[in-house]
Amino acid sequence: MIRYFENIDITERNSFHVRQIAKRLVEFDRAEELPELFAKYGTENWYVLSGGNNILFTQDAEPLLITPCDNRIEVIGYMGDKVRVKVGAGVEWDDLVAWSVEHDLWGIENLSLIPGKAGAAPVQNIGAYGVEAKDAIRAVEMYFVEGGNFASLTAEHCAFGYRESVFKQSLKGRVVITAIEIELSKTPNPQLGYGDVVREVEARGGATLANIRDAICSIRRSKLPDTAILGNAGSFFKNPIVESEVAERLRAEYPDIPTYPAQEEGKVNLAAGWLIDKAGMKGHKEGNVGVHERQALVLVNLGGATGGEVLTFAHKIVATVREKFGIEISPEVNIL
Ligand SMILES: Cc1cc2nc3c(=O)[nH]c(=O)nc-3n(C[C@H](O)[C@H](O)[C@H](O)COP(=O)(O)OP(=O)(O)OC[C@H]3O[C@@H](n4cnc5c(N)ncnc54)[C@H](O)[C@@H]3O)c2cc1C
Repeated sequence: MIRYFENIDITERNSFHVRQIAKRLVEFDRAEELPELFAKYGTENWYVLSGGNNILFTQDAEPLLITPCDNRIEVIGYMGDKVRVKVGAGVEWDDLVAWSVEHDLWGIENLSLIPGKAGAAPVQNIGAYGVEAKDAIRAVEMYFVEGGNFASLTAEHCAFGYRESVFKQSLKGRVVITAIEIELSKTPNPQLGYGDVVREVEARGGATLANIRDAICSIRRSKLPDTAILGNAGSFFKNPIVESEVAERLRAEYPDIPTYPAQEEGKVNLAAGWLIDKAGMKGHKEGNVGVHERQALVLVNLGGATGGEVLTFAHKIVATVREKFGIEISPEVNIL
């Protein structure tokens, strides 16, 4: 079914809870409805608003906002110990993780409690605790708005990288993702080598799926602000990737700087949170916006902030980090 709204308040449809009005918003349940939807409402100016956990609205939304609502999870094949699952774009990502744990299927348990919908997972290749969506995604189903055709892209063609994919590059603004296909495994494959995970899992009695999920949910709850209480979009900035010589130069000056090997050879990932913290901005507040006290990567709406205020504050952080370290950090959040 297609549901159409005009001048709708989207304060509760974005996790920053900035108060904006969308001129037009349309929800759809099934991929097959998209040709009719675009025929009726036009293909000119549109934008997918899924769960709104990675979007900062800085003005009233002019484009037609499109919200996928297909919430079906369907097993579509078995091969050896592998299980192929088709997931509608509107499935709440964490419901999918809970489903996989209930069905004793391994692969996405480390991605517990990431807010948002399954259709958004490939867009920035969501990741946490050493696992990324690309590790499970085998194909992405989509609708090309201009051509009016459906297609399925296998994972090798999705150009997945750190918080990156083809959907943020050449397919940006061209497709609506309608479903993803993921592959999960019946064979246990715990990934515990990240942060406090191993300790928390051991404290719960060992590496079962349920224990890993519980441990990760608990770690996340202790570190990240609840969007229902304090509006935010998780990490506002991406960890910058720099040439290894740049990292060396910084290490000479700041011996405790954390660095991680990047996927690309000769490059190194820096921790944007550490840079913001060391630039003296952790916990810093201006008006209705602040850097979270426990997590320097997270900008929070302290109450009544506009998207413009958040953006101005974010620019200030970028400038402060640039001035102190000569490093450019850039937003992970989509700014509209
Ligand atoms: C508290 C908190 C913690 C977070 N932690 C993490 C984390 O650990 N790791 C991580 O990677 N991210 C994290 N995030 C970011 C966020 O959860 C992810 O980016 C998530 O995938 C957003 O899903 P969404 O449905 O809310 O997408 P939206 O915010 O609605 O959309 C995000 C972008 O994807 C596009 N898009 C969404 N759905 C579709 C579709 N079906 N077709 C085409 N384009 C689409 C949108 O147009 C937009 O550009 C966190 C966010 C919050 C608020």
